[in-house]
Amino acid sequence: MDALKPLSTIGILGGGQLGRMLALAASNLGFRVHIYAPEADSPAYDVTRFFTCAAYDDQTALAEFAATCDVITFEFENIPLSTIEFLETLAPVHPNSAALRVAQDRLNEKNFAQQHGLNVGAFAAISHPSDFAPALQAIGAPAVLKTVRMGYDGKGQQIIRSADDAPAAWAHLGNVACIYEQFINFEAEVSIIAARGHNGSVAIYDLVENIHEHHILARSIVPTHYGAELHAQAAGYATRVLEQLNYVGVLAIEFFVVRTADDTLNLYFNEMAPRVHNSAHWTQLATHTCQFEQHIRAVAGWPLGATTRFAPVELRNILGDDIENFATDAAAPNAKLVLYGKSDVKAGRKMGHVVMVK
Ligand code: AMP
Repeated sequence: MDALKPLSTIGILGGGQLGRMLALAASNLGFRVHIYAPEADSPAYDVTRFFTCAAYDDQTALAEFAATCDVITFEFENIPLSTIEFLETLAPVHPNSAALRVAQDRLNEKNFAQQHGLNVGAFAAISHPSDFAPALQAIGAPAVLKTVRMGYDGKGQQIIRSADDAPAAWAHLGNVACIYEQFINFEAEVSIIAARGHNGSVAIYDLVENIHEHHILARSIVPTHYGAELHAQAAGYATRVLEQLNYVGVLAIEFFVVRTADDTLNLYFNEMAPRVHNSAHWTQLATHTCQFEQHIRAVAGWPLGATTRFAPVELRNILGDDIENFATDAAAPNAKLVLYGKSDVKAGRKMGHVVMVK
């Protein structure tokens, strides 16, 4: 693909904070942006002249949207696959539907990771009550039961401590298709964020250590205390995944860090996100090319930007009522404050973030 010229239009499906920051980055490169989202109060509408508020299965609206776009991308993985496949018949879409098919289904992504040589904890599919006995026998307990689709921030998952927990846990998740995962005794959670361009070039950001509170990302720290070897392991996996999926854009992979009895550190694949990722918001302060610009560069067929990090940083999410402390956050030295423009404050809702140079 030839590099898109400035003033070309980038279509973005999804109007949350990631869509908003992608739109701002695209504007900075001289592109126009058209946001497509079903919610009337999407934060991304505030930063772009062109938006369509319509359902993801509204083919008339999707076709009108596609007709205005030179390339289409998305800000989250729960867009129906059929929407992306339909748009692919009308305009270039990146990342492609094959990547989305893998990443929006936990069974598909674990099978994919295993096939391509990444460490994956034992797992089993649960689609009927009779699937629990063999899963418990093979994998044991404790384990984590997760819905195969639509789970995020700890929603759609339950801990199973014994066979007796299984029926209630499954009912709590709506008796939908689930994955039964071995409980991994990890010592840390990390993520690697990487990008691949149209020409196959790959750019990778430094490995990030993530600290979750109540299943929601609270803080990300870069560099991790693990050093270059673990980064290299993660970067190798990310490159493999990007190439196998013929992926264009930014991809995030989350891993558990497991220390073996002989003190070896292993990364276990947890999940991947075919999009920009919360744990890389620090790139807005501490690199040449933030992840949002990188994604836009990739999908527009531009050269990828440098990912060198200038400083040690810590990212903190501003959740729910914490937004009320905006003035204190704004006064912090050596920090960058980003607020998402959300009107509805709910407990645990991501309202903004602060990146601090440490
Ligand atoms: P996920 O939505 O899969 O990222 O899960 C949310 C959080 O639950 C993770 O960040 C972990 O802290 C925890 N978790 C998920 N899966 C497992 C697992 N198999 N073993 C142990 N902890 C897990």
